[in-house]
Amino acid sequence: MKVDELAVAEQVRICALHALAVLDTPQEERFDRLTRLVSHTLSVPTALVSLVAEDRQWFKSRVGLDASETPRSVAFCSHAVASGEMLVVDDATLDPRFVDNPLVTDAPFIRFYAGQPVFSLDGQAVGTLCIIDSVPRRLDDLQKQVLRDFALLVQDELNKTTIISARKTAEDALHALNEALEERINERTRSLEESNRTLKREMQRRELVESTLRSSEQRIQTIIDTSLVAFVSIDTRGHIVDWNPSAEQTFGWRRDEALGIDLATLITPVRFRDSHRTLLQRLLDGASAEGINNRRELTALTKRGDEITVRVTISAFDFDGERYFGAFLYDISEEQKAQRALEEKSELLAQKQELLDAILETVDVGVVACSAEGGLSLFNRAAREFHGLSQESLGSGNWAEHYSLYASDGVALLNEADIPLVRALQGEVLRNVPMVIAPVGLSRRFVLASGRRIANSAGKPLGAVVAMKDITELNAFQRQLARNEQRLRDITDNVPALIAHIDRNHCFTFLNSPALRFYGKSGQNLIGQHLSVIYTAVEFEKFAPLVARVLVGERVDFEEEMQIAGKPRFFQVSYIPDRDDAGEVQGFYVLALDVTARKNSELQQRESEERLRTITDNLPVLIAYIDTAQRYCFANALYRQWLKKDPAAMLGRSVAEVFGEEFHEQRAPYLERCLDGQAVQADFTMTDGMQERTVNTAFIPHIRDGSVIGIYLFSTDVTATYQQKAHLHSIANTDALTSLPNRRSYEASLNAAVRSAQSSGDGIALMYLDIDHFKTINDTWGHAAGDDVLQEFSRRLLMVVRKTDRVSRLAGDEFTILLEGVPTPEVCQRLADKILDAVREPFQVGGQAKQVTTSIGITWNGSGNIDAETLSARADAALYQAKGAGRNQYCSVDTTETGGQGQT
Ligand code: GH3
Ligand code: MG
Repeated sequence: MKVDELAVAEQVRICALHALAVLDTPQEERFDRLTRLVSHTLSVPTALVSLVAEDRQWFKSRVGLDASETPRSVAFCSHAVASGEMLVVDDATLDPRFVDNPLVTDAPFIRFYAGQPVFSLDGQAVGTLCIIDSVPRRLDDLQKQVLRDFALLVQDELNKTTIISARKTAEDALHALNEALEERINERTRSLEESNRTLKREMQRRELVESTLRSSEQRIQTIIDTSLVAFVSIDTRGHIVDWNPSAEQTFGWRRDEALGIDLATLITPVRFRDSHRTLLQRLLDGASAEGINNRRELTALTKRGDEITVRVTISAFDFDGERYFGAFLYDISEEQKAQRALEEKSELLAQKQELLDAILETVDVGVVACSAEGGLSLFNRAAREFHGLSQESLGSGNWAEHYSLYASDGVALLNEADIPLVRALQGEVLRNVPMVIAPVGLSRRFVLASGRRIANSAGKPLGAVVAMKDITELNAFQRQLARNEQRLRDITDNVPALIAHIDRNHCFTFLNSPALRFYGKSGQNLIGQHLSVIYTAVEFEKFAPLVARVLVGERVDFEEEMQIAGKPRFFQVSYIPDRDDAGEVQGFYVLALDVTARKNSELQQRESEERLRTITDNLPVLIAYIDTAQRYCFANALYRQWLKKDPAAMLGRSVAEVFGEEFHEQRAPYLERCLDGQAVQADFTMTDGMQERTVNTAFIPHIRDGSVIGIYLFSTDVTATYQQKAHLHSIANTDALTSLPNRRSYEASLNAAVRSAQSSGDGIALMYLDIDHFKTINDTWGHAAGDDVLQEFSRRLLMVVRKTDRVSRLAGDEFTILLEGVPTPEVCQRLADKILDAVREPFQVGGQAKQVTTSIGITWNGSGNIDAETLSARADAALYQAKGAGRNQYCSVDTTETGGQGQT
């Protein structure tokens, strides 16, 4: 690669590193767990998760190193990242690349380095999992594989955040889309409800107008037929002499029945008869001339007994010298009734007219009417507002200009012949004719005009009426709806999902941009097209049953795998029914989300789990994870080998349930502390019934967001280590030649015994023994023979002492015997005698019997008021005394009273 290509490649790599969003974040247990495990598994002091940035390497996790970052110029990992392969440096002092590196020449004195690059999802080497030691080492193939496996686990952890955030982005987008769709549906529902209400109001108004018009058209039919006037004449006695057919009809009496009968008796109600006769008398007397030719109204009686009101005009005439009175009797009962009815009807009509006026002034629909001659006769409040004019009678001719009437484009003034009221007057029935009213200085209105000619019941034209419905707001609403449509398209085009709407005839009505791109067609080519245009017959047959389900109102969700450019891609598909206001399914929405990344991450997750299990099952460590209720969530295969428990059967059961109360009680205090957030360690013994093991168990809390959500348990077999320790301890404290306790052990025992005597006040004694002339034995028979003598001497001492007495070899031919709980000095002296006797028996040296003697110095203290140093010094002095006195004897000192000065 050329230099600038290298620079670009590095730039891409740095971008991938930053995209992980891990750089300079706090330490995390999920990485620390892996560095601990790799350090432990490969037995190296240092393990790091290193991220190689522009000018430094930064450690996300580190074991065995204090620095959190180093300059990139000295970073070993930089080399591993550049090569993209594992870098192993067995000894850095032998490698020309690193021999001068300050990390090699100075602390931490790196000798061994092995680093396996870790990659981002798009294949960029962003850092390494590396191990470091200050001594040279070699990695075998198996160890390299372990490092690679751990690096893959680190890589999975690094990429996990990216995968999760990609999935979250997609889910958020889908969520936003769902909300937008719901909002759109709500808006549509609201708009339809609003249109419904407007329509209903318009219908009610129209019904009202029509019924009022019907009433106004109904002419009061007053039928006043000419009443036939009854004529009756009487003589001076009041007897009827004439009775015309009308009288027959009015009163019901035939002429032959009436003639000769007293008129008052025949047609006057009883209560008026006296005044009837009085009137007749006064007419006869000429006293009431004013009664003649005067119209008066009287109450009369018919043959049927009905009382009627008659208007009477009386005339007097003489005939044949006789005076007669003639009366025209006009039945006005019907007339009176008709008069009353007329009065009632006009009152009702006035009320109706008032109501109509009130309605016309109240409704928001403009109503105008004109007379048959074309004069404006009605111009209601809404109309006045529309036009900004009051009612004025204007002859036709320039209405369009005067009233600012424009065609539906809002530009062209209407021709006179196209004005709705003119058209209605011409006999045309108009229904929702669009028109614009745009007076200067007022807001323009879009109206729908409906109207017709009006005529009276006889069909005579009375004029025309036109109602104008203001749909300005409705138009604005439609524009709003269009804007919403556009907004919906903008949203859906930017959602990473394929979205389509398909009607119930299986034809596309909507596709967002990603869907069009997916099908590789334009909207013009697909909108209105049948589904079968883009699917093969086989595919169509597969989807048909699902389409059938969504079209009966069921939501259908399924996953679909498709081969795109030769690679499998996975889609999460939803068919969502689209219902109209009545709940009828009119089609369905298709939402298809590309979930390939999620699918792949699930597969990777599974692989990662399998890898983890393979590693843990092959580590010589019991590994388990328990939740806060102390139930096993994970246990590796070693549980079967070490504790005869099936790891699968352990899952979901508590520690006590699996291993019993005693096992659990031993660990309970550590589990408690661990649940408080502390990492703790302790040793336990465990057995599978055959073999007993000592294990060191680490309890490591799993902390998330500051609280413990579980515990990792790592148990290492430390049985061999403990045995080794015990062995070393015994070597350090035992004399190799005689197997007796050595000086070191003796001094510890002496100090303990003196402390015990000091506190109890019991008697304590110490004997110093030295073989006489041992040099000579060596010189004469050789060093090996000297060793034999020393071994035999120690055996004889052990034979005569009590179990509680402690025999030790200090050095060369010097021995001590420490005696506790010695009540008197005589006990020591008896023992000294026994020793001298035991030694007296000749020793078998080199097949020959040899005489050996020893000298003994004894110190005794009966009260414990002595220290170890003085006790030793006194015993040594007593030995010196015994030697000086000729050897093969003992010398005893009592220090009870003097604390060291006593003498025997
Ligand atoms: P004395 O009667 O005064 O005690 O005279 P001695 O010859 O015994 O003198 P001493 O006790 O000072 O001599 C101890 C000798 O023990 C000196 C050394 O060569 C010998 N020696 C020390 N350690 C060993 C050993 O492990 N094996 C043998 N064979 N000889 C030892
Ligand atoms: Mg000696």
